[in-house]
Amino acid sequence: MRDEDVRASCFAQLSILCAEFGEDVPYLGGLDRKFAFRGQRIPYLNRQKGIYRAAAQRGPAALSIQTSYKSPYGDTVTDEGVVYAYRAGSPEQSDNRALRAAFELQVPLVHFVGTRPGWYRPNFPCYVTADDASGRVVMVTPGRMVGPLDDPEPARVKDPIERRYLVRETRVRMHQAQFRGRILPAYLDRCAICQLKEARLLDAAHIVGDLERTGEAVVSNGMSLCSIHHRAFDQYLLGISPDYKVEISRRLLDDEDGPMLDLLKGHQGREIQVPERKAWKPDRERLAVRFERFLERAA
Ligand SMILES: [Zn+2]
Repeated sequence: MRDEDVRASCFAQLSILCAEFGEDVPYLGGLDRKFAFRGQRIPYLNRQKGIYRAAAQRGPAALSIQTSYKSPYGDTVTDEGVVYAYRAGSPEQSDNRALRAAFELQVPLVHFVGTRPGWYRPNFPCYVTADDASGRVVMVTPGRMVGPLDDPEPARVKDPIERRYLVRETRVRMHQAQFRGRILPAYLDRCAICQLKEARLLDAAHIVGDLERTGEAVVSNGMSLCSIHHRAFDQYLLGISPDYKVEISRRLLDDEDGPMLDLLKGHQGREIQVPERKAWKPDRERLAVRFERFLERAA
């Protein structure tokens, strides 16, 4: 069936893009390459409208939907998935019809969650699992790719416990993605410790607090760190004092010299680079809590 084939091509080529870019995919130089289907190039999304159905599709249902980086993903999540609003206008307006047809036909689609201007974290396959025409919203629930690794198929998750687990897991992932999308630009896409400038190797490390529980995706509760320094920070091999100085654990400092250890030891006592804007600087009180823990563990 043609509609199914369009979706399969979209998912397969999107997986390749995700592998190429890491987790977040840029629009320029990434998604704007479109995906190939029977000799045509088909857009993945419509950045203006949110709800998107490709002209090449025969079926009536949307291929992708979009959430802006400005709207916090977590605010709209329930146990069953994300509450996604219709567009303005009639429920019978063409985009709304495409969204609702995805519910009627139970076809998989892509949910592009904006992480920063021009960047998206694609979440697929997703299914529209409820349609509330009077409330003008649908429920979008993550599904799974199942079957052989080289030719997986999208599938709904029927078991309610597994589904709730998947919704929660997706929520944490998307929340982290949007957090990262705020932190990295504040640090000009560099590691606060070593200044490495390669977004694919950078994480948004949070200072304290479980992000999911506190929901505090504020920039001052995070720092941009490269994978090595993030891991060292999480493992208490490296601490950051409330006055922004790097402290390497005694254990590591006393260790034999080696080029790998220099990656860490070389930063002992140095000041990290923090954003200029006051509201973006790492919160000193949170750092103090975290540093206390580091001192206990590193002793
Ligand atoms: Zn680093």
